[in-house]
Amino acid sequence: MKNLTKLSDRVEYLKADLIKLASLLIKTGSENPPGDTSKVAIVIEDYLKSIGLGSRLIEPMKGHVNVMTSIGSGDYGLILCGHVDTVPIGDLSKWSFDPFSGEIMGGYILGRGATDMKGGVASIITAINALIEYEKILNEKIVVALFCDEETGGHYGARWIIQNQLIKGKAMIIGEPSNYHRSGHVIIAGERGVLWSRLKFDGFSHHGSRPMLGDNAIMHAVKALSKLKSPIISKVRTPYEAVKLVRWGKKVLTKEYEDRKSLKPQYALDHYTLNIGVIKGGVKANVVADSCEVEIDLRIPIGGSKEEAEKIIRSLTKEGKVEYFNYAPPSFTPLGSNIIKVLRKVSRSVFKENTPVICIAATTDAHYFRSALKIPVVSYGPGYEDLCHVYDERVDVNDLLGCAKVYAETAMLISS
Ligand SMILES: [Zn+2]
Repeated sequence: MKNLTKLSDRVEYLKADLIKLASLLIKTGSENPPGDTSKVAIVIEDYLKSIGLGSRLIEPMKGHVNVMTSIGSGDYGLILCGHVDTVPIGDLSKWSFDPFSGEIMGGYILGRGATDMKGGVASIITAINALIEYEKILNEKIVVALFCDEETGGHYGARWIIQNQLIKGKAMIIGEPSNYHRSGHVIIAGERGVLWSRLKFDGFSHHGSRPMLGDNAIMHAVKALSKLKSPIISKVRTPYEAVKLVRWGKKVLTKEYEDRKSLKPQYALDHYTLNIGVIKGGVKANVVADSCEVEIDLRIPIGGSKEEAEKIIRSLTKEGKVEYFNYAPPSFTPLGSNIIKVLRKVSRSVFKENTPVICIAATTDAHYFRSALKIPVVSYGPGYEDLCHVYDERVDVNDLLGCAKVYAETAMLISS
């Protein structure tokens, strides 16, 4: 415990360094597309060198660079992971400051990637920096994996590193933002799956003045879609080991959207939900449409299955053709995992918040890490998920500092 207090003081002492690093990472743009992370990787390599740590830059494709490092010796233990690419800045005129300024104002660091997730990367690196003094008492290696290409599917990032077996460990914390405005910090330990489908309807054209002589494909699509009365589809039975994750997740969502209670956002966690994202068909108002396509995003709750999801889609139409083009299974790490216990305890003591362990409605890369590495995986990091990918992106400096403490203390407790 004495070490933990000292470790926390050490992180506090590194506050100015942490701010400088987060700011420098933001200044060093790495928009994806195009996804060039070579410059930001060098910033990290230089920083690690300055604190006496070597690193490995892995570049599966020109410009797409991943950075890995570790401290300690023995088996590979905890992996702290993040990504160094960001989404593009978009329309510059919509920012009220320079997205690459990395400026510090009113306790916030400003710019593209502040929340998603250069801030989190700076917290991870600061935690490692603070742990260097304690390297000798660590029984396992603590691994840092900072990937490229996260924002466009992870092709040359996480997926490539895992496929080439360049990463090992016993548990993983992904430093993505995991704050809620009304519940504070949470640990994300489960998520829904996803199945995207394309429904294709055929008909044949005729002059729009005699539509009865044609066969309108849009009308076929309308008939199929008219079966949907709500985006909330059927409920599932949550498996026993995930019941608490779902229950706590529902509580957090209910609180977060308490002013829109009647829309039942919490149903997203134990129901299939469906969004019609795209509809296209026809060429002109006076031509009977001979084709129509609809793209649907169906989310699969924990306890649901791909088979059931396909059944839901198939039930919309007998005549239309269905293509599936994106699938991820629901996944979770059980509440009893040691990493969750330790992380929660530390987070509660650092932030003085309840820190519920929840599942979320969205789908992230965590399922991929869970199935490929077969280890417990959770997300926990500074910033609010709903402030990712937005104009005027920013992150609270105290949140970065708190998360750096949580990472450092958790790593110490897990590994010593
Ligand atoms: Zn992210």
